[in-house]
Amino acid sequence: MTHGGLKMRFNGTTRVNEKGHLEIGGCDCVELAREFGTPLYVLDEECFRQNCREYRRFFMEKYGADVVYAGKTLLNMAVCRIVANEGLGLDVGSGGELYTALKAGFPAERIFFHGNNKSPEELAMAIENGVGRIMADNMHELELLNGLAGGNGKKVPVIIRVTPGIEAHTHEYIKTGQIDSKFGLVIENGQAMAGVKRALELDNIDFKGLHCHIGSQIFELDSYCHAAAVMLSFVRMVYEETGCTIGELDLGGGLGVYYVEGDRPPLIRDYADAVMGAVIENALKQGTPVPRVIVEPGRSISGPAGTTLYTVGAVKEIPGVRKYVTVDGGMGDNPRPALYQARYEACLANKAATPPQETVSIAGKYCESGDMLIWDIRLPSAAPGDILAVSCTGAYNYSMSMNYNRLPRPAMVLVNGGGAALINRRESFHDLVKNDIIPERLAAN
Ligand code: PLP
Repeated sequence: MTHGGLKMRFNGTTRVNEKGHLEIGGCDCVELAREFGTPLYVLDEECFRQNCREYRRFFMEKYGADVVYAGKTLLNMAVCRIVANEGLGLDVGSGGELYTALKAGFPAERIFFHGNNKSPEELAMAIENGVGRIMADNMHELELLNGLAGGNGKKVPVIIRVTPGIEAHTHEYIKTGQIDSKFGLVIENGQAMAGVKRALELDNIDFKGLHCHIGSQIFELDSYCHAAAVMLSFVRMVYEETGCTIGELDLGGGLGVYYVEGDRPPLIRDYADAVMGAVIENALKQGTPVPRVIVEPGRSISGPAGTTLYTVGAVKEIPGVRKYVTVDGGMGDNPRPALYQARYEACLANKAATPPQETVSIAGKYCESGDMLIWDIRLPSAAPGDILAVSCTGAYNYSMSMNYNRLPRPAMVLVNGGGAALINRRESFHDLVKNDIIPERLAAN
């Protein structure tokens, strides 16, 4: 899609305003940069909510399935409130994410607790707070949960994570359903069945169902249909070997989003029809009741709702080689290009109506040659002080951010209807040293 000669897909409420500036949630991005500083994460509330609503409509209302937002993609207390308000559940992957959700008042019974090595303290916290489901990733966790629940006088609602042996077509680091994975118990070699049998034996485990997650940034709906077929055949095997009917089937998340030209993510409605169609068809084929289906979308809710604003600094041209446009952030606020060779589109927010004039590469300010946000992008001529807007940064950006080079993490603003509210304060230099300790013997020097 092009806007004023620009080649960048606009998500949600993003548009070019009368001043020729990029606008999100009715807020002029140049003004946002001035008021809140850069780098700045901008979260389009309407877009985030709209994505939640599509999941509600096409999974919950149409099929009676449950939708659990994957907090690992983007989580802070304001996001927890929005997710709760939209009626979705929340998938947390650590004690820290769980703490954030509880602090924000997220209903504990709608929380699903994931992770392949949850500590006894994290599991105890989940049990004490009455978390809705705890996903047991391995035998060790099952035993640990049983012991902790016993001490607590509670029966814990548990879903067992299995690896269905599916190779989803996505980046190696975000594939998770193949047999050789750190996540889950393998179906093929009998470990998953052994896990189910053990869960049924343990006194303090309330075995609710099965989970799988085949990967992330997936465009092919066939991968989900394949996962549903494998899972339903395992549901049947469990019934035959144990007499237990699986009540819940959690098929994870993974729906891809548009980042750059050529990306063709399926619509949420088509994803829902494909997944639910495959579950129903395979349940019939296996002669088992249709389980309650749960999906855990992350990126497809939060990704398109985020945009990151940066200020352009040094512009360096190596004649005949390349022009580098450097911004005031980079791999610390968005590690994905360095981690996964992820690609993004961008525009100059203050020149959003100007047609592209040159091909440049966007460099970050971290001390790594690999700190390149975008290679070879067409932009209007960029000068120091321009505001660069990178689109679709809502997922796995803030949540993966880091303090490499002791750079403070950016602020985040929630924009809607022309108003901007700070939902994460910018870290200060003080924040960077607040946990540093100079031991007595060094202080004396
Ligand atoms: N569920 C689980 C168990 C995951 O590991 C992930 C991400 O890796 C998700 C859900 C969310 O995936 P996505 O952001 O691709 O929708």
